[in-house]
Amino acid sequence: MLSGPFDPDDLPGTLTRLYFRVSVPLVALVTAASMYAASGELNPVAVAFLGLLLLTATAHAAVPRAWDWPLRLTFAGLLIVFAVILALFREALGVTAHAVPQGINIVLLLTPLTVVVWSMLFADHPRVGFVLSLSLALAVAVLVERWSAVSPALLGSGTAPLLLAVCLIAQLFGSAVMGLQRRVQLGERQVRLDPLTGLLNRRAFEEVLSAPGPHGVLAVVDVDHFKQVNDQHGHEVGDRVLRVVADVLQQTVDGAGEVYRWGGEEFVVWLPGSSIVAASSLFEGVRREVAGRARVGRRNVTISIGLSESGADQPPQHAFPRADTALRAAKTGGRDQIRAASASWPSA
Ligand code: GH3
Ligand code: MG
Ligand code: MG
Repeated sequence: MLSGPFDPDDLPGTLTRLYFRVSVPLVALVTAASMYAASGELNPVAVAFLGLLLLTATAHAAVPRAWDWPLRLTFAGLLIVFAVILALFREALGVTAHAVPQGINIVLLLTPLTVVVWSMLFADHPRVGFVLSLSLALAVAVLVERWSAVSPALLGSGTAPLLLAVCLIAQLFGSAVMGLQRRVQLGERQVRLDPLTGLLNRRAFEEVLSAPGPHGVLAVVDVDHFKQVNDQHGHEVGDRVLRVVADVLQQTVDGAGEVYRWGGEEFVVWLPGSSIVAASSLFEGVRREVAGRARVGRRNVTISIGLSESGADQPPQHAFPRADTALRAAKTGGRDQIRAASASWPSA
């Protein structure tokens, strides 16, 4: 898997962190400082805004993942309201021909970045994100238009439409990044899924169970004489049998573990925290259920199962060869049965 700051999967997270840790405090400080420099007094509106943004930045640094809906909406709404106040009450705020806050340019530069980040922050409600971004861009454009009237040297007459255009492009860019992220996530999920049964596949098995885990039991499940099912009844019937076995395994294991289709007619089940005794009784249920449900013609399809314990802090995958040896013992012992690996069996 990719990692690092530009992992597409984590791009929204990276940009959002940058936004709250750098951009938000910067906007707060620049706005307050430049308004103070322009008017010579600490404006209460600017102080409130500064407090709000610094509070937001601190809150995000403390709990970056707890950005639930009302909090995000309140933050974005207040930012828009503040931009509208700055736009409409210019004179009351001390912004005159001789006192235009110089820092306004930095705030302007950060507006498109805000639009990009909002498209990520509101990725679960893209339309709301779009409306909020557009409202902010419009409010800042009105602000620029009104302030440029008193200071054409600082804010040229074309600044407002230019800002709106850049914000629209930023919005498109943000949406494209989110679309890309969704596709990457979907693709990553799909390469770990078996299309026939919907179970996790061998790739997922190798990724997840190669890391050290708790004590538990690893089981290898194999359909008996499956080749005959295919040869006598066709591959479609064979596929149906595989789906039935997958269903029974999934339903029986439920939340107690994870079921993987290892390949062909073989499945692997990992039961963390289980013992051989508990796993044997669980798979006895699976064995009987499969024999009852997977009927082909006049015969019941059966399965054989090999079990092996995996020690604490061991990768469960390491127990696979022992479980496989137990499975082969179940096959040579007559099939349709469960065998457990003895602790003294070699692991490879
Ligand atoms: P044993 O009891 O010893 O396990 O014998 P078996 O016939 O089950 O095992 P064998 O390995 O000889 O045959 C497995 C068959 O599974 C061969 C292969 O064509 C078939 N198979 C593998 N994947 C699929 C699949 O996705 N769908 C179907 N229908 N058949 C598959
Ligand atoms: Mg097999
Ligand atoms: Mg088989």
